[in-house]
Amino acid sequence: MPERIFNFSPGPATLPPAVLKEAAADVVNFRNSGIGLIELSHRSKAFMAVAEETEALIRELMGIPNNYKVLFLQGGASTQFFMVPMNLLHSGQKATYLNTGVWAKKAIKEAKLFGQVEVAYSSEEITYKRVPRDDEYTVAADSQYLYFVTNNTIYGTQFPAMPTKEAMLIADMSSDILSRPVDVSKFGLIFAGAQKNMGPAGVTVVIIREDLLDRVDDTVPTMLKYKTHADKDSMFNTPPCFAIYCVGRVMHWLKQMGGVAAIEKINRDKAALLYEAIDSIDLYRGHAEKESRSLMNVTFNLPTPELEAQFVREATAVGLDGLKGHRSVGGCRASIYNAFPKEGVEKLVSFMADFAKKNG
Ligand SMILES: *Cc1c(COP(=O)(O)O)cnc(C)c1O
Repeated sequence: MPERIFNFSPGPATLPPAVLKEAAADVVNFRNSGIGLIELSHRSKAFMAVAEETEALIRELMGIPNNYKVLFLQGGASTQFFMVPMNLLHSGQKATYLNTGVWAKKAIKEAKLFGQVEVAYSSEEITYKRVPRDDEYTVAADSQYLYFVTNNTIYGTQFPAMPTKEAMLIADMSSDILSRPVDVSKFGLIFAGAQKNMGPAGVTVVIIREDLLDRVDDTVPTMLKYKTHADKDSMFNTPPCFAIYCVGRVMHWLKQMGGVAAIEKINRDKAALLYEAIDSIDLYRGHAEKESRSLMNVTFNLPTPELEAQFVREATAVGLDGLKGHRSVGGCRASIYNAFPKEGVEKLVSFMADFAKKNG
């Protein structure tokens, strides 16, 4: 097997090597049972235990209160863009959205199919280079919820703290869930596609306050009601077994790392190294405004697209992979989620200094 390189991919993203090794062995022979992990019935004792352990670890790591359900759903984070309003926003009712990037905008488009949408803030005109402070927008008193994206994966912006509005919060945490402590009790619903910070693609974790499960109209199809999945502990139909197992192993790894508060410190250290390089070397310009900088996705530009292409090419050649920015903004992006090792960030920083010396 070739040596692992540093994988800065925005998602699916790098996972802890110990988890990959364990999963590879378990796929063939699950914990010495004689049956491969992905051959197990989802209703078998062995798999039920996996699903229960995964949920218990997520609850423990995030400090999820008892009056919340944790669901394992399919369809990606993008399915939540419509499932949220389909379940929680009735026709004629109002919801407030913050337009801080493409993922937020897509959610806004879907919400308009169900109710009245107020976009209380948008940074679209300034290529989404910042997120709003609390005093930059208002939420109407009759708004059902305030929807926002905690970390804007493409632009490299992140809410430094959660909004402190009166409204019930709903958040897409796909790219920063479990990267820092969050007070779940302030939220009605949190969702995250697993493939950035929790595991492989194929499962979306939804954390929903129990009293919201009954808000849904009878006209909503069974599979698209949160209540259906909550009532059956995510076993209404066959769940994405392999992805749930992997999330469980990543949670186990995270717990061994010291949990969410400990990983936040590491994440802050990693991001600080990169932002310091961007700020101190003339060749690089950060895309996000400083107050909105993400700890997970670090976006930056070089003076020309040609130089950016050369930067990405030469970085790839020395084992720093996946640094090309999203097609909608160009430039470069280093995604440094929980499982991304600090040594990779150090190697990138030293590459950036060398590259600037040769091309500055
Ligand atoms: C990647 C991403 C999505 C889309 O996730 P899918 O699982 O591909 O639908 C949505 N929101 C955010 C913040 C993301 O980073």
